[in-house]
Amino acid sequence: MRKANCIFCKIATGEIPSRTLYEDDDFKVILDLEPATKGHALILPKSHADNLYELPDEIAEKVLKLAKQMAINMTEKLGADGFNLVQNNGTVAGQTVHHFHMHLIPRYADDGQDINWEKSQPSSEDLDAVKEQIVG
Ligand code: 5GP
Ligand code: ZN
Repeated sequence: MRKANCIFCKIATGEIPSRTLYEDDDFKVILDLEPATKGHALILPKSHADNLYELPDEIAEKVLKLAKQMAINMTEKLGADGFNLVQNNGTVAGQTVHHFHMHLIPRYADDGQDINWEKSQPSSEDLDAVKEQIVG
């Protein structure tokens, strides 16, 4: 399924050209145009889903397997020292293109990137309350 005016639908279907690293019936893996590091790539499902919440289970099952294969291959070919998988859902979470995608970010000892967050120090009671909110 395609969504009108979705840039990643257009890339996934080949309407807009991209530097494709891998392609099968379900996915296209492309180089990010504004990479965080050398080799930063994106896994795009060919069928449109806005985000993880909407992603069909059968595609979700395949995404991590593909990410693992890409990470192994890219790490070897690029001589990376580590790897980040990043996947943003919703504007507040940093998603700017609302077609599900997973970032593949090779990491290098000297890459100067900081893909991180500020830590907080909740009380034990606060942590218990959060747990109850989720599982209770
Ligand atoms: P998000 O912030 O939604 O998780 O990530 C969107 C990513 O898509 C960004 O890293 C951005 O550089 C990349 N991007 C946006 N438009 C294009 C495009 O037209 N082509 C490619 N290859 N990457 C894009
Ligand atoms: Zn789309």
